[in-house]
Amino acid sequence: PFEVLIVGGGPAGAAAAIYAARKGIRTGVAAERFGGQVLDTMAIENFISVNHTEGPKLAAALEAHVKDYDVEIMNLQRATKLIPARTEGGYHEVVLDNGASLKGRTLILSTGARWRQMGVPGEDEYRNKGVAYCPHCDGPLFKGKRVAVIGGGNSGVEAAIDLAGIVAHVTLIEFDSQLRADAVLQRKLASLPNVKIITSALTSKVDGNGERVTGLSYKDRNSGTEHDIALEGIFVQIGLVPNTEWLKDAVALSPRGEIEIDARGETSVPGVFAAGDCTTVPYKQIVIAMGAGSTAGLSAFDYLIRLPAS
Ligand code: FAD
Repeated sequence: PFEVLIVGGGPAGAAAAIYAARKGIRTGVAAERFGGQVLDTMAIENFISVNHTEGPKLAAALEAHVKDYDVEIMNLQRATKLIPARTEGGYHEVVLDNGASLKGRTLILSTGARWRQMGVPGEDEYRNKGVAYCPHCDGPLFKGKRVAVIGGGNSGVEAAIDLAGIVAHVTLIEFDSQLRADAVLQRKLASLPNVKIITSALTSKVDGNGERVTGLSYKDRNSGTEHDIALEGIFVQIGLVPNTEWLKDAVALSPRGEIEIDARGETSVPGVFAAGDCTTVPYKQIVIAMGAGSTAGLSAFDYLIRLPAS
């Protein structure tokens, strides 16, 4: 059994592992895919102090740094259930999909999140080639170009406002007959000169030239007619889904399924901590996930040194 068992091997899990291992306590990381979302990223330009890097390179560096320490890495392991300790200071159990289980006196949950996809032709093919999911990450790559934002909820409208300050033109596409974002955001959006809003529109296809996105097609849900828009970028903002389905009965989740944590990263279960995109932390970014992972690692150590000697 581990003193600190981390579930999830993205930036948050890697940071938690390093901080825990540096305290000299037995630390393990179980991850479905070590590296996490970073593996699906190409250009990273906001990892502070590193002007430019690429996802696979950063993922390899995360793993190399963790391996500098005495951390047991269990890659390709998917957790399916958490059974909290029955007594304070007892072992929490994490059941894996191969039937085995792992035990930790403290746990750090860092299973991340995934962007909801449109599921239309061209989306996968042009991912990172014009199809983007994160305006904070990729907005500046589209400086002076034309983009669309798919989704008129708060994140879509925030993204459209943000991008309107960087790119030449933004088309916001909403499936419903009206936007769902807060009224203040909608007013702000409507005041911007380089934004066009299209409602009752179903995005049907991402168009490209084999190398990059050149446009998109949508169907007008009122008239049934198809339309094409020429543009260089598409930001899909139809939801970020936390990978917490397996935790439903074990720890408190927000209505959006994010693990609720306090300022120290502790969940509703004593000795169980969480960090990164799977939590209620505002803004989902690499540096933020790493900071949260470090917090959770230190909090787990703090918890352990306060347990009565057994
Ligand atoms: P993740 O990176 O999602 O890692 C989660 C880990 O948990 C993975 O190892 C996963 O395999 C594992 N896991 C999930 N479920 C289970 C389970 N049931 N059992 C075991 N393991 C499990 N951020 C930036 O700051 N800058 C950027 O430029 C940037 N670009 C991005 C581009 C793309 C295309 C994407 C998708 C994201 C981008 N991000 C960027 C966001 C950034 O990648 C995330 O904020 C960050 O990776 C979150 O780290 P995390 O450790 O919380 O979760």
